[in-house]
This record gives sequence, structure tokens and C-alpha cells, in this order.
Amino acid sequence: MEKFRLLRSLLLEEQVIQPQQIHSPLSIARQDLERIHHRSYHEAFSRDQLTRPEQRRIGLPATRPLVQRTWLAVGGTLLTARMALRHGVACHLAGGTHHAHPEFGSGFCIFNDVAITARVLLDQGELERVMVVDLDVHQGDGTAACFRNDPRVTTLSVHAASNFPLRKVSGDVDIALPDATGDDAYVQAIGDRVPQLLDQHQPDLVLFNAGVDPHGSDRLGRLDLTDAGLLRRDQLVLDAALRRNIPIATVIGGGYDAMKPLVRRHSIVVRAAVEQARLHGL
Ligand SMILES: [Zn+2]
Repeated sequence: MEKFRLLRSLLLEEQVIQPQQIHSPLSIARQDLERIHHRSYHEAFSRDQLTRPEQRRIGLPATRPLVQRTWLAVGGTLLTARMALRHGVACHLAGGTHHAHPEFGSGFCIFNDVAITARVLLDQGELERVMVVDLDVHQGDGTAACFRNDPRVTTLSVHAASNFPLRKVSGDVDIALPDATGDDAYVQAIGDRVPQLLDQHQPDLVLFNAGVDPHGSDRLGRLDLTDAGLLRRDQLVLDAALRRNIPIATVIGGGYDAMKPLVRRHSIVVRAAVEQARLHGL
């Protein structure tokens, strides 16, 4: 849990962002959470009544602070999306729990913040089409499952083919990369595809999971990107959306390494967003 606080401190210390640019969310409303998650599941989680296998599948203990953070983080993604709709781009310093399915959690993911956010904004008529660009090294199986029957949402997942989850849930577009894919091959794999998909689907909002676990020193990733490669990746996605006047909201997604390099790595997407906002006159 420390990484969230440290990320905020790092961004302020290095003056990537100013204090007045930080906004604090409210916890997600229950009725909004239930647009994706079954009541029996979220109640069991919040009351610490999940079965042992259900808890093991998530891999985190249901402590009180974790329950609070989980509801709050989803509210953060929704707020970030609304800020992006207003300003063009906004970044969440948490979020990206894409293995969460409607009726169960998995792989450190409890609620699917990006899916809930998309569903709330669509249901409330704030937009008509959303694209999820999920570049976390693990496949976005939960998000794909949430939108299997929702043509308003296009899901793109770019991930390591051999990585968790073993059983992938097909999304609209899945790009599975071989182990040890490096910066150039990675950027080549998404460089034409992301702009092409934006032109094809013309979403009103992009929700971008900028997980840093494709990094070469990540403990759970199997790809071989460098910090510079992650920066190029994030610039590419942000630029592709902003040059089409499509608002884009980012979430940090996964990352598993020693705290210090990890926090710095998660700051890359925010640095890229600040730079791209300036370049696009936002
Ligand atoms: Zn991941």
C-alpha cells in the first residue's frame, strides 16, 4: 500500500505536478459498483466472508484498510475519467485492477475500477463509446469478461503470451507478445495498432492501463522493456488519443519490484501525460 503514497510524494517533490493539481476522490457508490459486481461478491469481500479459495485467488488479506482503499480506488478511477473528460487528460495514482471479474476477484484485483468507470459513464449517458487500452503485462481477462456483451466498449490488451492468467478471456483485440520482447519490438507491435483502433472505433474516452510490469526487471513480467521504452509507449498512447481530441484517463496498473525503482517507474505515465498535455496545448 505504501507505493501509492510514495508515488504522490515523488511527483510533488520532483515538481512533475503541483499540489493544486491533485484531487481526492470519494469512495465509489454501491449502486455504481453493482453495475459490474454482484452484490453477493462485494458484500462477502467487504465483510471478510469470502471463502478460503476465493481469498487465495485474490492473494490479499481482507483487512479494514484494504477494504477502504479498494472502494476508494474505484472512486478515484471514476473521478480521473471525469477530469479527463473536462481537461483532456488526467492520471490516477492507483487503479488498473483488471483481473477482477463481476463475481470474483483474482490476481491482487478485487473490483474492476476501469470496467465500473466505463459502465457508469455509459449508463449515465455521459458518453457513447469507450476504449480500454490495457498495456499491463498480464492479459485484461476481467475487463474482457465484463464487456463480453457490451458493444459500447472496445477492449485492447497487449500482454506477455505465457504470463498470468493461464486461461485468457478474449477481448476485442488481444496482442500476445513472446517472452523477452524489448522496446523496439514492443513499440512496433502497438505503434500502428493503437491509432488504427482509435480511428476505427472513435471512442469518446480512452481508459489507459499503463502497468509497468512489462519492464525487464519486473518480478512478474516476462517482457524486457526499459524505463525509456515505457516512456515511449506511454507517449505513443497519449499522443494518439490527444491528437484525435479523444480524452484519456490513465491508471497505474501492475508493477512488482523493489519500492524505489517501482515508484519511479509508475511516475513515467504521469510525466508523459504532463508532457503530452503541454504539447497538445491542454
Ligand atoms: Zn500486471
